[in-house]
Amino acid sequence: MEWGRTYDPYQHAEALGAEVIVSPAVSGWGDYRGGLIRLNPLLNQAEARCTVAHEIVHHERRDDVLGYCGVRWLDTRLERRVHATAARRLIVVAELADAVRWSDDPDEIAEGLVVDVRTLYLRVLDLPRREFDELHKRVGARERRALDDVRRYAARRLRQPRRAG
Ligand SMILES: [Zn+2]
Repeated sequence: MEWGRTYDPYQHAEALGAEVIVSPAVSGWGDYRGGLIRLNPLLNQAEARCTVAHEIVHHERRDDVLGYCGVRWLDTRLERRVHATAARRLIVVAELADAVRWSDDPDEIAEGLVVDVRTLYLRVLDLPRREFDELHKRVGARERRALDDVRRYAARRLRQPRRAG
């Protein structure tokens, strides 16, 4: 499986034997149980892509009981860890470097990477030291500042409790 912008979670789900359906019965962004990934029909393309990538991790972990992801799914340690794995697959360092060269706006950076902004925040926050250094080497001073801004912003945003609905 190729990671980054070309990563296709729908294809990955199929390869792993998980079924993906869109269901208005989903109260959060998506959920997982027994090999079935359900997506909320209101998600845009990038949100749906990130949600499938997230539910795949539950599928791999066989989180049949804990696999339900509500709107607060980044508020628990498990959900955050699951999404960090998905975010690493969706965003690779070389593409992140290109994206911050192109824009310093988190929404535009996320759009360029075909992810939702929450996934971008989590990826940037969880960058291991080695990747962070690699990223800094790949970009110039202006992009380094933009990256640090996104990191600070992400730290604030991901700490905030999310509203339901
Ligand atoms: Zn989840």
